Amino acid sequence: MSRRAADLGTPARCPACRAPVIRQWVGTVAALRITANLTPIDPAAEDQHRTPNQLTWCLTHPRTGPPQLRWRCWPRGTCTHPVVTEHTCPPQEPNTLF
Ligand SMILES: [Zn+2]
Ligand SMILES: [Zn+2]
Repeated sequence: MSRRAADLGTPARCPACRAPVIRQWVGTVAALRITANLTPIDPAAEDQHRTPNQLTWCLTHPRTGPPQLRWRCWPRGTCTHPVVTEHTCPPQEPNTLF
């Protein structure tokens, strides 16, 4: 695995908390650099996960290449993609050695 793997959107692990994540640019105009959890959430509970600082994304699986993050489909009811949230590290254990 090369150090450019993350730039290609290859699933990886968060360097801080080791959670499985995907990091890539989303959008063709004014693209956002997004790190998202690879574990999908229940779309029915999306509103509980989504905040102004933690958006939700569609995770699409092209026939070839790594999974792709996309802006959420609209209306959401038509979407069949797994829904993932932007990654934030869980609170650190107070006894973590650094
Ligand atoms: Zn979708
Ligand atoms: Zn993390």
